[in-house]
Amino acid sequence: MSSQDPIEALARLRHEFGEHGGVNMSIEASSTFTVVDPATMPDIFAGRKGPESGGCYLYGRHFNPTVYNLGRQLAALEGTEAAYCSASGMGAISAVILALCNAGDHVVASHTIYGGTWALLHDFMPAKTGVTTAFVDTTDLAAVKAAITDRTRLLYVESQSNPTLRVADIPALAAIAREAGIPLVVDNTFTPLVLSPARLGADIVVHSLTKFIGGASDLIGGTVCASAAFIGSLMDLHTGPLMILGPTMDPTVAASVSLRVPHLPLRMAAHSERALALAERTAALGVPVAYPGLPSHPDHALLDKLRHPDYGHGGLLTIDAGSEEKAMALMNTLQNDHQFGYVAVSLGYFDTLMSCSATSTSSEMPEDALQAAAISPGLVRMAVGYTGTLEQRWAQLSAGLHATVLA
Ligand code: PLP
Repeated sequence: MSSQDPIEALARLRHEFGEHGGVNMSIEASSTFTVVDPATMPDIFAGRKGPESGGCYLYGRHFNPTVYNLGRQLAALEGTEAAYCSASGMGAISAVILALCNAGDHVVASHTIYGGTWALLHDFMPAKTGVTTAFVDTTDLAAVKAAITDRTRLLYVESQSNPTLRVADIPALAAIAREAGIPLVVDNTFTPLVLSPARLGADIVVHSLTKFIGGASDLIGGTVCASAAFIGSLMDLHTGPLMILGPTMDPTVAASVSLRVPHLPLRMAAHSERALALAERTAALGVPVAYPGLPSHPDHALLDKLRHPDYGHGGLLTIDAGSEEKAMALMNTLQNDHQFGYVAVSLGYFDTLMSCSATSTSSEMPEDALQAAAISPGLVRMAVGYTGTLEQRWAQLSAGLHATVLA
């Protein structure tokens, strides 16, 4: 693990130039790779030669040079020894869980996580593999410790939980995981740069690149950032989930994401600045708003202790409209009368995206699980964009709030 500042680490990374000296790397579009000496082939298959040993590549579902270079950028961003990418965030998350668990093993996970991950752990894994999960309130460190059994193979949290924006105490959770001899896996999709989980003690960091890192809601991708040994294990010819299950990132997608990493710092700072301003003004109207940058947020002090000083508190806020009906009315007027943003799932787009979590991205969770996670029926998640001016956007948001939540 590197303790370097992420920007410093990215700046130190040797730039990959294009085949003809282009300032951007070339896209390696080949699905298969030739060797000069046929005797090299068995070495690549046996893992004795690879991208880092002899610059050897095998086949596009194994390592691809363009995807590998994006992995190097993301490893620098997250301060890990290595990284590789996958076709989606879920491809990355499921690969990590399948790599760490065998039939009958156990996971301890936060009870507030993205609905797709929740369904993977709650429904898919027990049915297909016999791997079970204890969902706990991971802000309660004693509960986390108590949930770990001798079959537990990993502790799983989101840096800022989807959608409740609770902040994981990564150093404390890492200490618990270390004591139990298991890795701490952190999904850092909501807070790239704001938080660097591996620099805070996490062993494995995953992202949906579909969100802030992609930044334009035009592609789907994921990454796993970890030790070189763990990344290598994902490509094992017998048991590597990336190699065997094949959630392969397309090299054209990798090249595109690679061009967005350099301006991620500017974008994250802009998302956070706008989200803080809108959260402060919304709170001043007396509307229930949760944003980790507000002193009223239960994890404000924790986030201030853990975060990078330059990227604020993240680009997401939630407003509790009071009921599902009011949440729908708020989103309807904000999109269709005031052009404040779009009713759409996802996050990290340059315009604001709004969704009612209980009936969308957390709808996999039944009523009792939603209640335990404090996902109320009227909770509207806003992934705040940075287009327009603050005054324009505030005029639109406050008009929508006055017409619905405050009416
Ligand atoms: N992790 C988080 C926190 C998410 O919000 C999502 C998607 O919404 C994912 C992972 C899954 O990512 P993808 O849609 O790229 O598979």
